[in-house]
Amino acid sequence: MRIHTPPSAVDVVVVGSGNAGFSAAVSAAERGAGRVILIDKCPAEWAGGNSFFAAGAFRTVHDGTEDILPIVNNVDSEIARIIDPEPYSQHDFRRDVDRMTSDRTDPALSQILIDDSNDAIKWLASNGVRFQLSFNRQAYKVSGRFKFWGGMTLKTEDGGKGLTEDHEAAARRHGVEVYHSTPARRIVTNVFSAIVGLVVECNGVETLINTRAVILAAGGFESNPRLRAQYLGPGWDFAWLGAGCHSTRWDANAPANGGDRTISSEFTKSGYPLGLMVNTIGERFVDEGMDMRNYTYAKFGRTIHEQPDGVAFQVWHQHAIPWLRSEEYRDEIVHKIWGSTVEELAEKLRAEEGLSSPDKFNPAAKWDPAIKDGLSTQSSRTKLPLAKSNWALPFDQGPFIAVKVCCGVTFTFGGLAVNPETTAVISRSGREVAGLFCVGEMPGGGLTSSAVFGRRARAAAASLVAGQSAMSRDLSTPTRGGPSSYARL
Ligand SMILES: Cc1cc2nc3c(=O)[nH]c(=O)nc-3n(C[C@H](O)[C@H](O)[C@H](O)COP(=O)(O)OP(=O)(O)OC[C@H]3O[C@@H](n4cnc5c(N)ncnc54)[C@H](O)[C@@H]3O)c2cc1C
Repeated sequence: MRIHTPPSAVDVVVVGSGNAGFSAAVSAAERGAGRVILIDKCPAEWAGGNSFFAAGAFRTVHDGTEDILPIVNNVDSEIARIIDPEPYSQHDFRRDVDRMTSDRTDPALSQILIDDSNDAIKWLASNGVRFQLSFNRQAYKVSGRFKFWGGMTLKTEDGGKGLTEDHEAAARRHGVEVYHSTPARRIVTNVFSAIVGLVVECNGVETLINTRAVILAAGGFESNPRLRAQYLGPGWDFAWLGAGCHSTRWDANAPANGGDRTISSEFTKSGYPLGLMVNTIGERFVDEGMDMRNYTYAKFGRTIHEQPDGVAFQVWHQHAIPWLRSEEYRDEIVHKIWGSTVEELAEKLRAEEGLSSPDKFNPAAKWDPAIKDGLSTQSSRTKLPLAKSNWALPFDQGPFIAVKVCCGVTFTFGGLAVNPETTAVISRSGREVAGLFCVGEMPGGGLTSSAVFGRRARAAAASLVAGQSAMSRDLSTPTRGGPSSYARL
């Protein structure tokens, strides 16, 4: 099929049709940045990048019910009476960012992420992104009330699929033109190292788009096994893909390289806090109940990757099975291994003689998955070699089930240095490259970050093109030398 060729001169070119690219393109168009186009190397049926596969959870500062109910579409007055979305302050966000990164975050970038997060989700909502309270992922109904936990109260309707649809509709409304099957190949600069164009490939032919502003939103390197091995370390070329990295517990039966656009993020397997995880030699290897899931899942994905064969079994007893979320554990999408006794399950799994039975815990406490309930395997009488600090129940009542999981890369991040205020790319010489911006996973990662910095880029791009349209600009400014002076994408 012949692909529609992009125009030869525009005001702003955005590279990448994920959450970052659409946020940048739509907000630039909204700001009056002139003719804004968005290109993506994927064909139209794969639009949305990694963002399409996301579960759609947004971590954002908010003041509680009154602040967020106006932008969600799944809370009626009856439900509103039985929900407790605690406010999530700037302080809470900072504490969580520092703790999840072990204080290894860029302070300026993360502060802007925190400061702009509330505005960014309201801006997305104003542009038609459908938000919901995350009842299924971030809340449990306990004693008749929904208790939210972990700072990720909001998600998009239908996850990344819904987000992509809503972005596409917003782009159409704002006149942003989208060109698929059009990879960016080279950036063209003039003698002052300012951007004057972008070479793209279309229908197998390279073509130059004259422009003064290029916003790179081309995602991470998760789909490239060579770069994974190079930057994440040996063995990461064999990690499973959903689309320094962020990883998760992933269905071991999922396709290893590339996503499934139907099942998408439902390959994630997040129910381990309510059960146990054992590796193929039958050993537990983490404290599954160390903390609420949001604070442990990325590091546990990595830990699974370090186990023999890079896989593990998640195991639950009768009491926990009804609490497993249907979108991740329903029979249609995951292979479950059942046993009426631990022994039977052990036989079927072949390998878990070493499965520890967490059979001692504080019987006076009440099991509550919505809080850190303190139901621990450790007591003055008994201690397991490896504790399960919360949600531990005796492993004595069948039926039991097990699901085989592995490590799935959710996103990679890092690459280009940017000015946090404007997202302008900083070159090796320490100077900003005039007209080149970079957002999303390329400098950061996650949906809130890609929206926040996508919007930051628009202000800079819009002011750059203000007063001088690319179409009327003198395009004869000499470019630097030949192709060797081009930056390769
Ligand atoms: C299963 C899963 C669940 C997730 N859940 C969440 C979640 O709930 N919350 C959260 O915050 N994050 C989540 N993430 C992470 C999140 O999806 C990403 O961090 C985010 O979507 C990245 O957005 P982006 O726009 O930077 O990149 P992407 O969405 O990956 O978009 C980049 C685009 O650039 C295109 N591209 C690349 N190179 C070129 C080129 N040379 N020319 C043209 N186009 C190019 C790609 O084809 C792609 O379409 C999840 C990820 C996965 C895999």
